[in-house]
Amino acid sequence: MSDTEDKPLGSNTLAVRAGQVRSQEGEHSELIFASSSYVFATAAEAAARFAGDSPGNIYSRFTNPTVRTFEQRLAALEHGERCIATSSGMSAILCTLLGLLKAGDHIVSSRSIFGTTVNLLSNILPKYSITTTFVALSNYEDWERAITPTTKLLFLETPSNPLTEIADISRLADIAHHADTLLIVDNCFCTPCLQLPLKLGADIVIHSATKYLDGQGRCVGGAIVGSDALLGEDIHAFLRNGGASMSPFNAWVFLKGLETLSIRMQAHCRNAQKVAEWLSNQTFVKRVYYPGLKSHPHYALAATQQSAAGGIVSFEVSGGKAAAWKFIDATKLFSITANLGDTKSTITHPGSTTHHKLSAEQRLAMGINPGLIRLSVGLEEVSDLINDLDQAHQG
Ligand SMILES: *Cc1c(COP(=O)(O)O)cnc(C)c1O
Repeated sequence: MSDTEDKPLGSNTLAVRAGQVRSQEGEHSELIFASSSYVFATAAEAAARFAGDSPGNIYSRFTNPTVRTFEQRLAALEHGERCIATSSGMSAILCTLLGLLKAGDHIVSSRSIFGTTVNLLSNILPKYSITTTFVALSNYEDWERAITPTTKLLFLETPSNPLTEIADISRLADIAHHADTLLIVDNCFCTPCLQLPLKLGADIVIHSATKYLDGQGRCVGGAIVGSDALLGEDIHAFLRNGGASMSPFNAWVFLKGLETLSIRMQAHCRNAQKVAEWLSNQTFVKRVYYPGLKSHPHYALAATQQSAAGGIVSFEVSGGKAAAWKFIDATKLFSITANLGDTKSTITHPGSTTHHKLSAEQRLAMGINPGLIRLSVGLEEVSDLINDLDQAHQG
């Protein structure tokens, strides 16, 4: 039965086992290596490690065993050769962009991305002569038109936040590669349990581990996944010299989070589907945005590209901002917070929180109407969540 050794392991097995290296203590659960530096047997060994001639730990800014276990586990789940863990989702984006780009380079990005990413691209990177053109997520002609000879990469999130718009990753990968550029996908909303951008042709996947990978709202962290060739040189050098490293404690929380990610994601999706279906039958709701509803314009694409529709549901109430705020304040179970991807369900008004920096015209152009409410559906009893929404609207 020697051929069984070579059978590839399934993702649920990888989520629980990949990357673990047991110490001589025989511990069952992964250790937190709370050590900033490592000792060498001899001066010659130290020299060989620093020269890169011998593998092994040097200093925890760029080599830590707990962080490495998290990296190898997430790389296995995303079908990437390599992962680099970072101190936050934003530093994952920063390390990727500043690792790969130089002054004069150009980015084409979806307009419907995380607000802080918009700020990074529009207000900070231009100081270093890296510029961005923003396009509509699912307007493929827009993407093609925006590419110039200095464009080095395309950047997107799918589904988008808060309107859950879906982009065809394979199609954008073709557009990117035809123009000799890279495709970068922030896979925060789906996680590798629902969507595998690298298998669809993307070059790099970004994560805010803060969201579903932790899944219980405890730690801030991020990750970059892709090929050895893309990550191993400039992006790794940016992390090593820029210092936006993940701490071993946070890495341990995230790697334990990966062990239950698949069952949590399935439960988030089940609850979100029921909440979305209930909302779409309510007269006080003008419109529901959830890719698991047949009424969603990208329902068919979501069904082929994702294994389930995700945990984020947005909806619009009649009566604009005042009605939305009144509804939010009347919920009792939902937490009023802009965070998402937590076991605890959250409710937020995108127009005055996550998207408040945009002008009213920009928000309207993006479809973020004043009556829009975003839910991150958690793992409570779904009947309790629905009862809470029901009483909030009556109250
Ligand atoms: C939260 C978030 C980020 C930023 O991650 P942090 O861990 O908060 O730095 C990036 N992208 C998306 C889609 C997010 O939701």
